[in-house]
Amino acid sequence: MRAEAEGSGGAGLIDGSAVAKKLRGEIAMRVADLATKGIIPGLSVVLVGDDPASAVYVRNKEKASQEVGMRGETIRMPASTSQEELLAVVDRLNADPAVHGILVQMPLPKGLDADAVIHRIDPAKDVDGFHPVNVGKMLIGDQTGFAPCTPSGVMHMLREYGVETRGAHAVIVGRSNIVGKPMAALLVQPGADATVTICHSRTRDLAKHVRDADIVIAAVGRARLITADMVRPGAVVIDVGMNRIADPTTKTGTRLVGDVDFEAVSRVASLITPVPGGVGPMTIAMLLANTLASAERSRA
Ligand code: NAP
Repeated sequence: MRAEAEGSGGAGLIDGSAVAKKLRGEIAMRVADLATKGIIPGLSVVLVGDDPASAVYVRNKEKASQEVGMRGETIRMPASTSQEELLAVVDRLNADPAVHGILVQMPLPKGLDADAVIHRIDPAKDVDGFHPVNVGKMLIGDQTGFAPCTPSGVMHMLREYGVETRGAHAVIVGRSNIVGKPMAALLVQPGADATVTICHSRTRDLAKHVRDADIVIAAVGRARLITADMVRPGAVVIDVGMNRIADPTTKTGTRLVGDVDFEAVSRVASLITPVPGGVGPMTIAMLLANTLASAERSRA
């Protein structure tokens, strides 16, 4: 897959929407195959409180799961929900054989212990890949767990575009548990074989590190932190960041941008992901892939 980025000054565009669409099509076929054996993959998303951004994410997940033929449900709970009530819902979903994937949307309202909730989810249904058992399995390269959706989506995109990771120097900016650290773990695994550098807010001379990268992965949450002078000509640039900035020319007065100065960086990069339409769509597609894998395993 390769397309010229519009206004990109030459870099090829990594079209996450197209890759995700193709993957969702493949998932839908496997879901249909499972249905002939009497299994409908079930994804249950738990939304606590009324954070508007979370409500949008959850709706998208439910819709995407239903579109590929899964049984997608959202369990909505008020912000006043107690820890015990939330854990009781997790216990119920853990015990329900029709549920193959459980996702509790983060962040939780104040007063609720997110770690305790993540620890309570049955690792075999933890399709977000946040349970310590799955984190450990990912780190040791055990394929029976679940890798977190965003970094595994990035790996899928790199493979689809034939980006050589073996021996490549990948520089990841950001060390969160949901993106930066698992991204490093996946890239360094035998098979992917990248040499990995992880940068964070305490890194000395960020530009020096990024400039040395064959593959740059930005997962920071700072609009346009990665500028053209920091990118080696020909590097592949993956922008995980999602930042809403003011833009009076749009209807809403805001616009979504990544962590990378797209216009300038695409003049030096060989391949680049846009925001939106890059990593974002892959995250939901990988969630569906994990739920399907869980349902297929439940048959074995
Ligand atoms: P996070 O937990 O806030 O982590 C951000 C990381 O960036 C931290 O490790 C932080 O360093 C580092 N950082 C902050 N300022 C820096 C600087 N000036 N230089 C170098 N490193 C710096 O964020 P996250 O959850 O990983 O998310 C990162 C971004 O990706 C956000 O914009 C988020 O919205 C987006 N995201 C997108 C998707 C998707 O599906 N597209 C999924 C998840 C996240 P310290 O550890 O030292 O504080």
